[in-house]
Amino acid sequence: MKKQQMYVNGKWLDSLTGERFETKNPATGEILAEVPRGKKEDVDAAVQAARTRFESEEWQLFPPIERGRILHKVACALRADIEEIALLETLDTGKPLTQARKDVEASALYFEYYAGMADKIFGETIPVQPGILDYTLREPIGVTAHIIPWNYPLQIISRSTAAAIATGNTVVAKPAEDTPLTAIKLAEIFDQTDLPKGVFNLVTGYGFEAGSAISEHPDVDHITFTGSVQTGSAVMMGAAKNVKPVTLELGGKSPNIVFDDCDQEEAVDWVVRSIIQNAGQTCSAGSRLLVQQTIKQEFLEKVVEKMKTIQIGKGLDDLDLGPILNEKQFTRIFEFMGVAKKEGATFLTGGERQKTVGLEDGYFFQPTVIDGLSPDSYVAQEEIFGPVVTAFSFETEQQAIDLANGTDYGLVTGVWTKDGARAHRVASKIRAGQVFINNYGAGGGVQMPFGGYKKSGFGREKGLEALRNYTILKNVALKY
Ligand code: NAD
Repeated sequence: MKKQQMYVNGKWLDSLTGERFETKNPATGEILAEVPRGKKEDVDAAVQAARTRFESEEWQLFPPIERGRILHKVACALRADIEEIALLETLDTGKPLTQARKDVEASALYFEYYAGMADKIFGETIPVQPGILDYTLREPIGVTAHIIPWNYPLQIISRSTAAAIATGNTVVAKPAEDTPLTAIKLAEIFDQTDLPKGVFNLVTGYGFEAGSAISEHPDVDHITFTGSVQTGSAVMMGAAKNVKPVTLELGGKSPNIVFDDCDQEEAVDWVVRSIIQNAGQTCSAGSRLLVQQTIKQEFLEKVVEKMKTIQIGKGLDDLDLGPILNEKQFTRIFEFMGVAKKEGATFLTGGERQKTVGLEDGYFFQPTVIDGLSPDSYVAQEEIFGPVVTAFSFETEQQAIDLANGTDYGLVTGVWTKDGARAHRVASKIRAGQVFINNYGAGGGVQMPFGGYKKSGFGREKGLEALRNYTILKNVALKY
């Protein structure tokens, strides 16, 4: 069992109290490492380091193109060690190795993408009146904080810290307590580059200690958070005390809308993939299936048939579906199943623990398809975060739109139809940050702005849009 350290101001440190906690393999319960239990004082030290570095002449005069070159090196280092890093992610999260490899590749893409942007952050000149030269400057916002969830630990820390550093900010990041190992690996990679010490800082710790200390810190200039609505709201309240901006990405209850003229084989394939990916522990999981009544029965039969072919095992076995992250999440899924039964659900497949010989301590849950619930029921409305899809039917296009928009969330929607005009008509009426027509996810889409409507959050990550989170606009007017 390896003892890990945090990374603050270019130094590897234990927490100031010396306390630690364990991170475990969810497939076996095996303890993987001990990690420092950072608290408020550790956060203070990291924010202080990030502030001092942000204001230093070295960083203020650091050429943007050099920032980009360093981010490129991080991308190369991630790719060079892809097997080792994917293994670490698989052990810590439980996800199949192939999915973990894709995560490392996506992380490298984030660094590559934002590396190219570092010297392309433009302001504007604005025609005010003759004799006045008016222009805007898009400046770095300062010390940026990044509170990371456990479902895509490396991808999510990469997507926001790459954008923040590309735009000239400094960073204090906190990985989720369940999955800190690849974030520590990322700090090791930064440590081997020429990035000035104190630009990238990593504090490990619990949400209620280190996380809330970050949210309430008066010297943090922006907070990026991905996780639950409840915690996102707490982060926002902490930030509000100091009038700090936040970017919140808070999950969803995303539907696939399947019209009867679609390519059914393709749609079935993606409906299943979109809920099986990472054992359904994905903010953009396709957790609701809305099928046109005319094809409902045959379509559901095909979905169930496909779900029954899903192979379940530990991440290292590299099958289709790994374990749920931890006992808390596992129990939460069973609570949802209990409520579904009370609400009159029909389980077309799944709904139980998957017993796996030799992995009796693993949190394996069967791929599950539920029918017969009211669209207003608790299970149909709330994010389950497991491999569970609930099915509903509609007759008209308007009913499909109403069902799709009928939750508090609005992150992603899939539309399956061969009628191009209908596809765009539906897309225009959907209240979600991303709409996919005849695909779902489009290969991850580092380049596509991503974020929510309604309780799925606000602000956009990914793409050029994310650069707005990490820059602040100044207008300068000169009379000549
Ligand atoms: P969470 O939102 O509590 O945790 C996410 C991150 O926030 C972690 O780094 C955690 O340490 C930190 N955190 C926790 N409490 C905090 C606080 N008071 N202040 C600041 N930071 C804090 O998520 P969870 O409890 O691990 O999971 C619960 C549910 O959240 C899941 O079942 C799922 O529905 C949802 N979730 C969504 C996403 C997503 O990608 N949108 C990711 C993880 C969890």
